[in-house]
Amino acid sequence: MKFIVGNWKMNGTISDMENMTQAISEIETENKVILCPPFTLLYCKNNGVTIGAQNISEHENGAYTGDISGQMIIDAGAKYVLVGHSERRLYHNETNEIVKSKASMAIKHNLIPIICVGETLDERKSGKTEYVIKTMLEQSLPGDGEFMIAYEPRWAIGTGLTPTIPEIESVHKLLFEYLKNRKNTPILYGGSVKPDNAQTIANVPHVDGLLVGGASLKPETFLPIIKSVK
Ligand code: PEP
Repeated sequence: MKFIVGNWKMNGTISDMENMTQAISEIETENKVILCPPFTLLYCKNNGVTIGAQNISEHENGAYTGDISGQMIIDAGAKYVLVGHSERRLYHNETNEIVKSKASMAIKHNLIPIICVGETLDERKSGKTEYVIKTMLEQSLPGDGEFMIAYEPRWAIGTGLTPTIPEIESVHKLLFEYLKNRKNTPILYGGSVKPDNAQTIANVPHVDGLLVGGASLKPETFLPIIKSVK
């Protein structure tokens, strides 16, 4: 069993959500599928598919216009939440410290945070990948509680570019070793996963699942990914 997580980003309507969850519910798979639509769709009919949010406030409640709390997310029926996605880090200035408090808030509300980490292309080219990932882990992981990690090289997100298999393997080994005191923490890969590379990437040692952006938006591309991963 692998985790297959779909991140819809700022896309999707109620009918898209109902069509996708209906389509997912009709296939046979050993994999655990988690769909992360925008907040507006968390309450939709989900046809039994597990739902995650894409963001969470680090605050409990109160005067934070436009933010959504852990209590609201769990109340809407989600079980997971993406935390520290590179688009949040980039466009909303989310630091490792903020990511850590968001992850802790998720755990406090019995949500499982999927904490995203990844290097930029400049960092990779200058040989800093390992250092950057370790720093992100040191500074953004919560002290206790259940969570998942997604390795998402920033330069691979939405670009059609992916690291080589040995590059993915080496970062996942690093993550696995870093997390060895937290056995059973799933480690996902994300960044331009498509139907034609999903199985190969999912078979890399210490890849416990995939985080899929663009290709999760349509059943024509998401279902083949779910079905191809064994
Ligand atoms: C993502 O948004 O987490 C992602 C991996 O996007 P894409 O699959 O489109 O690269």
